[in-house]
Parts: sequence; structure tokens; C-alpha cells
Amino acid sequence: MSPVIELAAVARQYDLDGTPVLGPLTLTVAPGTALAVTGPSGSGKSTLLNLIAGLDRPSSGSITVAGERLDRLGEAALARYRRDRIGMVFQFFHLLDDLTVQDNVLLPAQLTGRPAAAARARAAELLELLGIARHRHAYPGRLSGGERQRVAVARALINRPALLLADEPTGALDSAAGADVRDLLVDLHRAGQTVVLVTHDAGLADACADRRIHLVDGQVATDSGDPATSAAAVTR
Ligand code: ADP
Repeated sequence: MSPVIELAAVARQYDLDGTPVLGPLTLTVAPGTALAVTGPSGSGKSTLLNLIAGLDRPSSGSITVAGERLDRLGEAALARYRRDRIGMVFQFFHLLDDLTVQDNVLLPAQLTGRPAAAARARAAELLELLGIARHRHAYPGRLSGGERQRVAVARALINRPALLLADEPTGALDSAAGADVRDLLVDLHRAGQTVVLVTHDAGLADACADRRIHLVDGQVATDSGDPATSAAAVTR
């Protein structure tokens, strides 16, 4: 199967004379992988995630995700890519407080113009699967952090994305709710969802991911999917 993510010599730099904040980086991620990206603050994790999400563009190199050459897409096509191919989960949920749980989950489907009945059926299935069906008519403000993150995950999955991107998804949760979201990510991965997880939390990375890359100064310092760097990590 062709990779879900292919980065070839990707670099991102802000200062044209300076060193890139990320890369040059070459990375291939197979379908069904749960990839954890770890690294200290400022190492380039968010930059990498934003490039894969089509929220930022590389200064050089090519990025292919789910068969689309992101570095060649125009703004409208990139917006469509984000809507149709990517689901994102953030530390602080980013739910719309004046929409019900169900309407938050439905929103990305409505933006695609898909038939409303099919979207509602998918939303009902996800709300059930994620254990939040009883809250479907509630507003997010009434829910706990863990429940809000489940709503955010349901919203991220409504359009059956090729890739689920999670940026510190347990960072704002207490340990019980964090464990709950961790288990949910494990279940999604087991069900075949390709996941990229950015986290400071080594325990979360260990629990959720079957591949781990560690960034230092915008470079891949270790990659458990690459025998050369993972061997280096073991002997270090
Ligand atoms: P992380 O997510 O690992 O904390 P980031 O990807 O946010 O790291 O940042 C990587 C580097 O890029 C940091 O040194 C940061 O200061 C720099 N950086 C991020 N965004 C910008 C920007 N808009 N302009 C200049 N430098 C930036």
C-alpha cells in the first residue's frame, strides 16, 4: 500500500539566511501507523504537524498526504484537503460553545455538502462509539474535559479522514480523563486509523504509538521505524 504521508527533503525556514526550524526531513508513514512525534519545546513538532495538516507550506521539498501533493495545491484545494482528508484534535478542544454536541460533530460534514441524512447517521454512530450519545443535545460547556475531547474526536472523524492529527490531546485533562482519551486513541489505531500524535508525554507516546520519532532542533534524532537511528537510541 502506498504511504499515507511522504515527506521528501522538506524544510521550513522563516529567516531565509538562517537554518531551517524544521528539516530538511525525509519521512514515510505507512497506512495504519500511529506515529508519535516527541521532542523538546521549539524542536519543530508543531511546524511538522502544521505542514502535514496543510496549515503551513514548506520552504522547500515535497509533501504528499493521502495521494495529494500539498506543496502544489492552491489555497482552495488545500482548504478542501483539510476538510475532507484530515481530522484534527487539539489540546483545548476548539469546540463551538453555542452549538450542541451533535451540531459540533456534524459541522465538518455539513461543510462538505454531503447528504444530511448520511452525515446524521455517521454522527450518531460516532457519538455511540465514543460513549457520548447521551450528551448529544448538550452544549460543550456542560461537559467534562474528557467528554469534550471525545466530542472533538468524533468531529475529527466525521468525514472519515485518511489521517487523524492530535496535538497534545491529553494536555489539558486530569489523569483519569487523559487515560480515557489515551485508550480511545489506542482503540482507533487498532481499528486501522492512521494517527499522528504530537506530545511531550512519553507515556502517552508509548501507549498509543507503534512508531515514534524524536525531534531535536528540527531534525529527526531518533526514529523507531528506522533501524539505524533506533539502534543509535538504544546504545546511547
Ligand atoms: P515545538 O512545537 O516543538 O515546540 P515549533 O514547531 O512550534 O516547535 O517551533 C520550532 C521553531 O520554529 C522554534 O524555534 C520557533 O521559535 C520557530 N518558529 C515557529 N513559528 C515561527 C514563526 N512564525 N516565525 C519565526 N519562527 C518561528
